[in-house]
Amino acid sequence: MSLISSSGAPLLVTGGAGFIGANFVLQAIKDGLRVINLDKLTYAGNQDTLASLEGNPLHTFVQGDIGDRELVSQLLQEHRPRAIVNFAAESHVDRSIDGPAAFVETNVVGTLGLLECARDYWRALGDAERAAFRFLHVSTDEVYGSLGDEGKFTEQTAYAPNSPYSASKAASDHLVRAFHHTYGLPTLTTNCSNNYGPYQFPEKLIPLIIQKALAGEALPVYGDGRNVRDWLHVGDHCAAIRQVLDAGRVGETYNVGGNAERENLTVVKAICAILDARRPLGDGRKRESLITFVKDRPGHDRRYAIDSSKLQNELGWRPSHTFESGIEHTVDWYLANHPWVQRVLDGSYRMERLGV
Ligand code: NAD
Repeated sequence: MSLISSSGAPLLVTGGAGFIGANFVLQAIKDGLRVINLDKLTYAGNQDTLASLEGNPLHTFVQGDIGDRELVSQLLQEHRPRAIVNFAAESHVDRSIDGPAAFVETNVVGTLGLLECARDYWRALGDAERAAFRFLHVSTDEVYGSLGDEGKFTEQTAYAPNSPYSASKAASDHLVRAFHHTYGLPTLTTNCSNNYGPYQFPEKLIPLIIQKALAGEALPVYGDGRNVRDWLHVGDHCAAIRQVLDAGRVGETYNVGGNAERENLTVVKAICAILDARRPLGDGRKRESLITFVKDRPGHDRRYAIDSSKLQNELGWRPSHTFESGIEHTVDWYLANHPWVQRVLDGSYRMERLGV
């Protein structure tokens, strides 16, 4: 058993009420790890997702900002975590086009605050704890920019972020790198492709299309629908993070991807086919007929593809889902968890189009 998994000291997870963070927290606690979960509860944070952890002594939820140094220092002193896993971020590209400042505030300034608190805490640890401590920063493949028809992003690909979101994540990645090189903070960074799966906020492509297709509404597809993303089931992403946390080489970055490149149009058609089989529309129409092409996102990156051979070769990680098994699992999850979706939709989110 690994150092991290066998330790009684908790993990400090930030952004653990969001999509990927909550999936990570739920799995970690199922595996017997203790988690201090720091989340600001922005529109994207949802405590419903963590409802099954109510009263569980392995989980401590704290509402707060990663940029609040006083709070973060206090949490570090009180709980003495052996690692920080930083998921907290503003994460939606369209929102970053409408309002980039919040992205800089959390993703750059907030991450800097968290790094400074982590550095000061780590420096004061005893030798054994200091050697075992890790700061794992969860990032995206979008920092690498856009690809043509060929090639994949490797860890050596030059950063070329194209949206305010990816620019803010790139800046945070650079700060993490600098804290390792300048102060020796034992950092790890993961750069992952597009995720999908349970508990994703229904403004992102896959849950949005599932909801609209279920309701028999028009299915908006940006541009010509030919933009390619490398889709990874969130459970496989979380497993990769756990493996990097346990065995990754300090100061390194690891690309995480599903080897599942699909055009957006193919993704939408796959969802339509599964829903047509599970819940046929009353009037006999095929859901593909609901696809409606809408104005493209400004600066929409054409293609992302990830080479995750470093992670696979060094740490033995493999995705457990193919795109086909993952998308089927995801559609079935949304069908079985309608109350979760409904409560999100009843809230402030109105499925309005952002970022035009
Ligand atoms: P999300 O938007 O669903 O969740 C973000 C969470 O962070 C929310 O719970 C929110 O309340 C919290 N948060 C926001 N600002 C905060 C702050 N200042 N302090 C504390 N908490 C704050 O995002 P997600 O899709 O779960 O993504 C998580 C991380 O993974 C992000 O860093 C993102 O860049 C990265 N990532 C996402 C994907 C993807 O496909 N979703 C892919 C690769 C990497």
